[in-house]
Amino acid sequence: MISSRMVAVGIAGLIYADGSLHAQLKNDYPIQPVAFTHVQVMDNFWAPKINVNAGVTIPYTLEQCRKTGRIDNFLRAAGKLPADTMTAFPFDDTDLYKIIEGASYSLQAKRNPALENYLDTLIADIAAAQEPDGYLYTFRTMKASKPHEWIGDRRWVNEEDLSHELYNAGHLYESAVAHFQATGKRNLLNIAIKNADLLVKTFGRGKEEKFPGHEIVETGLTKLYRVTGKHEYLDLAKYFLDLRGEPGHMNQEYSQSQRKVIDQHEAVGHAVRAAYMYTGMADVAALTGDKQYLSAIDDIWNDVVDKKIYITGGIGATNNGEAFGSPFDLPNMSAYAETCAAIANVYWNNRMFLLHGDSKYIDVLERILYNGLLSGVSLSGDRFFYPNPLASLGQHQRSAWFSCACCISNMTRFLPSMPGYVYAQNKNDLYVNLFVGSTSSITLPTGKISIIQRTDYPWSGKDDIIIDPVKKMQFALHIRIPGWAVNDPLPGGLYKDASNSSTSIRILLNDKIVKYQMIKGYAVINRVWSKGDKLSLDLPMEVKKVMASDNVQADKNRFALQLGPVVYCLESPDNKDSTVMNIVVGKEAAVQTSYKPDLLNGVMTLVMNGESTKRTANSDEIIKSAQTVTAIPYYSWANRGPGEMEVWIPFDAAMAKPTPAPSIASKSKVSASVNSPRMFRALNDQYDPQDSKDGSASYLHWWPKKNTTEWVQYDFDSVYTVSESKVYWFDDGPWGGCRIPLSWKLYFKKDGEWLPVKNISMDVIAKDRYNTVRFEPVTTTALRLEVQLPVEYATGVHEWIVK
Ligand SMILES: [Zn+2]
Repeated sequence: MISSRMVAVGIAGLIYADGSLHAQLKNDYPIQPVAFTHVQVMDNFWAPKINVNAGVTIPYTLEQCRKTGRIDNFLRAAGKLPADTMTAFPFDDTDLYKIIEGASYSLQAKRNPALENYLDTLIADIAAAQEPDGYLYTFRTMKASKPHEWIGDRRWVNEEDLSHELYNAGHLYESAVAHFQATGKRNLLNIAIKNADLLVKTFGRGKEEKFPGHEIVETGLTKLYRVTGKHEYLDLAKYFLDLRGEPGHMNQEYSQSQRKVIDQHEAVGHAVRAAYMYTGMADVAALTGDKQYLSAIDDIWNDVVDKKIYITGGIGATNNGEAFGSPFDLPNMSAYAETCAAIANVYWNNRMFLLHGDSKYIDVLERILYNGLLSGVSLSGDRFFYPNPLASLGQHQRSAWFSCACCISNMTRFLPSMPGYVYAQNKNDLYVNLFVGSTSSITLPTGKISIIQRTDYPWSGKDDIIIDPVKKMQFALHIRIPGWAVNDPLPGGLYKDASNSSTSIRILLNDKIVKYQMIKGYAVINRVWSKGDKLSLDLPMEVKKVMASDNVQADKNRFALQLGPVVYCLESPDNKDSTVMNIVVGKEAAVQTSYKPDLLNGVMTLVMNGESTKRTANSDEIIKSAQTVTAIPYYSWANRGPGEMEVWIPFDAAMAKPTPAPSIASKSKVSASVNSPRMFRALNDQYDPQDSKDGSASYLHWWPKKNTTEWVQYDFDSVYTVSESKVYWFDDGPWGGCRIPLSWKLYFKKDGEWLPVKNISMDVIAKDRYNTVRFEPVTTTALRLEVQLPVEYATGVHEWIVK
């Protein structure tokens, strides 16, 4: 029964060239996704984004891999280039793997022979870098005269800590399976299998006993297992998981190795690693039936939705270890919420759904998708966020590249796979999980159907779903009723809908109300379907004000605006005086929607009445004035240059940051011995930090310099007589690279020369408060602050005041 369409035959399953998986494994997820290859997205929201990914992001990131030397790493390992230099990180190989993965998905959506050929040349380079026994890790194989310090002096010795050998392997496998499914070619798959066979031979009890410091090889191995049917791959994935937490190994929350995985009940440590691990545990649980894994990840999932997730779906609140923070510690301006963590969280929640069939997991997935994940890439497709903060003074902008480019390559691979999250099936139960204008063909045991969605989601809640079975047939359609439509913004106890209006959802079948049964968050309609049956869904697309739990200090006396799954923010360009931190909006304020086709590639804006607050000179009085306030979708912010942004809007004026009265400093032109104009604003933004390490407040810093003399300068807008100055130092010890300076001095400009001021009194240099200097009055047009950095550290400045 092997036809030419079947390109792989394993003892356990068949995969077809069109990417469909015909699993015949004894155990797997009870629910199976409908492969992205069967879903053609043709809406006005996702289709343009997927097109930008194919047309801009994939060629751009491939070119960046070439320019930055990532492809050369493979040539060096193959002996085709001298190994006298290399890129920054031993995991740089994975960027190429991930981009090949994304390019493979995109080939499924649209044929592109030139791209397919280019991938083949890249795969030939990868093959040439592989050692005869299957080992593939360019940083070791190139035998540089000065090897990278993370890789250790022989294979695997540093794996639990820094080498990332197994991390590279995991991304290789994910890429190889995607490329094979998309093209039917085995060239990359064979490289992956050869490498995986080496791992099977190398690792295990009584052999090399090591687990991966950065997880992903677990899901890579389960994917390879599904393709090849080789049980050893699944066994090895489970071995890697079970070894964590054993004595005699790296033992830390950072890499989820603080205890055995089945004894873990809270989300801790590096958020990307964690979410990849929970995804791997779900895979192994599905494939082996392991109940202990299930119970652990169920607990961890509850911990996340009850205590550790942002309203945007972002996870990993702190940059300290790129990690989950303490429960309810969800700061907005310093939110880390790495793009990779959002993508990993989609993978994990999708797996949880496939295990349990409950719509709450898709509620989380949809929230991530439309917000904290999509914000990771610019509308242009070639600028990227690593952290995705929920507030900004203008210090955050997307970058063209990062030396650690994980988020960029991850976005590149994720977007074209997005159609794979729309539908899922379990025998004759068909799940409609996402509302996306699309056409699909799906094979149920009872027969083939095509299904069309016509909708302007997420701007409209109306969705016509047209069912076209080849013949009359009975099956159960499960239509997800999103949590946001029934006043539950996200599962768990963190967020609630302030309006709390009661909602019932009507569904029409061929224009008549149809009865349905609610099962696990789905409206289930089980009937005999005929050609052309039309279901009309009308979800209440109303603006909601969402409040966070009182436990979340950062969101106190504030609300977030939400329309359907989309979270909103205020951004400078849409609001008076280009400021938003000074805005207050009443809890009862009516909010109007207004679609703007020419704004940010077409977005629904929200418009309401509010107030702005401002200070006057020499008075504590705060002046309020009425103004119109406009909000845009969070994902679309930072596409119009730097400026203020805020998701959580204060309804209590005490929470707003009134526009300060103009000061000598705020009217000055800033320059410095570090050429980063983006940081200049920090000095005179009149924003007092909570303490010296406050990452929420913006600051100027000289990291990674140390032991040098540096300066910042104010050129006044006029001549002033000044006699006092205050500096608030940035110091992120003991973990960061900045400390208070060894010394500092002020100079004033006279006849084009810099002369020192004559100090009358000067505070001892200290952190967590302003350091004041009083000096004999000088009349001048400019001041310069000279700073001596510590011997082993840099320094930074939060704020510099002049009187
Ligand atoms: Zn990343």
